[in-house]
Amino acid sequence: MKKCLRCKHNNNDENNYCIKCGAPLKNVCTNVRCPNWENNNQLPDEAAFCPLCGSETLFKTYGLASSSLDIKDEDLPF
Ligand SMILES: [Zn+2]
Ligand SMILES: [Zn+2]
Repeated sequence: MKKCLRCKHNNNDENNYCIKCGAPLKNVCTNVRCPNWENNNQLPDEAAFCPLCGSETLFKTYGLASSSLDIKDEDLPF
């Protein structure tokens, strides 16, 4: 199961978009010329920008990437 970041609905793992609200469930690069996009590589949920090309991720365009907003000091590994 994959929980929607927007509405918290539990979707099937194979779903690319939430069946309840249409939000993307898999974070991918939005740059069609990027190797990550060509290979359909999934990026971390918290990724706001693609690590390879610097383009906005799909989650970022939907306002779902948490970026720095939800990161607390205790969540950092160091
Ligand atoms: Zn949803
Ligand atoms: Zn990219």
